[in-house]
Amino acid sequence: MMGRSPDHVASTLSGVYMGLDVLAQQEGARAEAFADYFHYARDNDLFLTYTIINPQADRSKTAGGQPQRDLVAQVIDRNADGIVIRGAKMLGTSAVVANELLISCIQPLGEDDTDFAFTAAIPLNAPGIKMLSRRSYEAHAASEFDYPLSYNFDENDAVVLFEDTPIPWSRVFVLDSPSALAAQFYQTPAHVYQNYQCIVRFTVKIRFLLGLARKVADVNGTIAFPQVKDTLGALAAKVSLLDGVVAGMEVRGSEHNGYYIPNNEMLCAAQATAQLMYPEIVDTIRDMCGGGVIMLPSSIADLEDEETWSLLQRSQMSPAVNSIERIKFFKLVWDAIGSEFGSRHLQYEKFYSGAQFVLNGHNFRNFNWDSATGLVDGFMGTYSHPRESMNP
Ligand SMILES: Cc1cc2nc3c(=O)[nH]c(=O)nc-3n(C[C@H](O)[C@H](O)[C@H](O)COP(=O)(O)OP(=O)(O)OC[C@H]3O[C@@H](n4cnc5c(N)ncnc54)[C@H](O)[C@@H]3O)c2cc1C
Repeated sequence: MMGRSPDHVASTLSGVYMGLDVLAQQEGARAEAFADYFHYARDNDLFLTYTIINPQADRSKTAGGQPQRDLVAQVIDRNADGIVIRGAKMLGTSAVVANELLISCIQPLGEDDTDFAFTAAIPLNAPGIKMLSRRSYEAHAASEFDYPLSYNFDENDAVVLFEDTPIPWSRVFVLDSPSALAAQFYQTPAHVYQNYQCIVRFTVKIRFLLGLARKVADVNGTIAFPQVKDTLGALAAKVSLLDGVVAGMEVRGSEHNGYYIPNNEMLCAAQATAQLMYPEIVDTIRDMCGGGVIMLPSSIADLEDEETWSLLQRSQMSPAVNSIERIKFFKLVWDAIGSEFGSRHLQYEKFYSGAQFVLNGHNFRNFNWDSATGLVDGFMGTYSHPRESMNP
């Protein structure tokens, strides 16, 4: 239930470190600064999050082409101590609780967008950092019993603004180079490692949702219906399929500078599939629940009053559990799939690694096309027409 737990950006840093030679080629001495920072973050067990997407404004224009020139975080000055940045990044999940922030850009930049092409790390209490958080679902959860997930796992998301924030040279890893920026993610194992963390997390999350689905059928006495078994079987297949792809990407990985890297073709496929799968799973659970997630007491306050409690006991029935267990269960289901917390999770799974066209682009670029077109060419080579050997 936490997308940007501390192991996420730790995976990014680890991936860049595994490809330090690429950073050294592109950025020279900045690779040493990165290596020092990697050791510092690791040895101090820092919780890092990152902001690598520019704020939405006019998506038809590049970072530098936005009407408001200082919208997107950019380098506005450089001096003997380091750089100074100004502008915003779109979303920093967990920024309000993390120790430090990695600032970069994974979106394609124009050749002239050099001011926007930097990677740096700063503590989140550095001067000039402002965070504008969305509403806290945790703060608005009536109680743990009413909203058990919101109450425990709300990793807030914040727009992060930099108001002339100084960053020392020891924390600047890429500067002035859109191509080095892309290389840092795609030519090192960084992108693979960060997404490998995501997909492992995802398989656990959908197994939890599958557990909810199965229990809905048990609690509502629908488990014996053939259609319900069919629905649960189809959901179980999705969960097992993703588990299988994770196992596959581990078995078919390869070595990079002595480190083992999961298979990127399978990883990209898993991510694009997961992005479509999550809304389907949520929608199926909603179908299975009917109004069960709505016919619930407004809060635990209702349970305190003896008269209301006796009414609840008469109206909250199940063949499998008692009244209080039924209430507890369906409140959990609603928090997972329907509350503001659950709804944010749907949006997260649809977008955390990019919109669908971005993920399909990764699949297009990483798929071994020769393995497919070679089969076609091979077969077409088994028969011929005399005109094929003539000039057109
Ligand atoms: C809950 C949540 C948490 C997040 N946490 C983080 C975080 O911690 N750190 C971070 O850096 N980012 C984070 N993000 C941002 C996330 O990375 C972006 O949302 C994601 O990259 C998609 O970008 P976007 O939201 O600007 O959507 P857009 O790129 O604007 O896309 C939105 C839609 O517009 C259309 N569209 C836009 N451009 C094109 C195009 N070129 N071609 C075709 N269609 C197009 C598509 O329909 C697309 O689905 C988070 C997002 C969410 C929702």
